[in-house]
Amino acid sequence: MIESKLKPEAAIYNETVLAGDGWIREIAAGQTFRIVDLEGNQAVDTLFYNARDTSERYSATDTIVAQRNIYLTTGTTLVSNLCRPMLTIVADTCGRHDTLGGACAVESNQVRYAIEKRHMHACRNSFLKAIADPEWDLTKRDIAANINFFMNVPVTPEGELTFADGISDPGKYVEMRAEMDVIAVISNCPQLNNPCNGYNPTPIQVLVWSAGS
Ligand SMILES: [Zn+2]
Repeated sequence: MIESKLKPEAAIYNETVLAGDGWIREIAAGQTFRIVDLEGNQAVDTLFYNARDTSERYSATDTIVAQRNIYLTTGTTLVSNLCRPMLTIVADTCGRHDTLGGACAVESNQVRYAIEKRHMHACRNSFLKAIADPEWDLTKRDIAANINFFMNVPVTPEGELTFADGISDPGKYVEMRAEMDVIAVISNCPQLNNPCNGYNPTPIQVLVWSAGS
């Protein structure tokens, strides 16, 4: 776990994303991007694309293979489907983030929980709403395997995947430096049926510092 030296007062962008909302923004190469779990135990589903060519995107499998570890933390390089570095995690006070659990969807809510959960708001819908403006040059088919910042998905020695209670606390954050111009897309997960949000979705804060900060 490594703390950042960057001060929020010096950020060029500082915004709160409310519980359940989506968010999208371009982050330039060299800029630093921080996500703060304001109230603790909030899953932050996140996707990244090369802002100059959106056919290049964050790849969970290539990132796992490159670092030979399934968890993301300080020192992890988030790599693309072309195995190029997109961002590097440079500070992290939570200590572990998931990239196996995927994003919730109305369909998975229905299969995992109950047919009457189908109407409930889910991350996949927030992603689709965030990318809806044609300026982003992204479509439904671009929504691939994502990162779940602050989400705790331990894998047992037998390889079983479990959605466990969170290990994040209020004010914990993860910070990364962009290695290329990227589009970041967030769904601040609205899930109410599993412990990824402590059954209580809460706001997050997103900050950006200029290159060389
Ligand atoms: Zn979700």
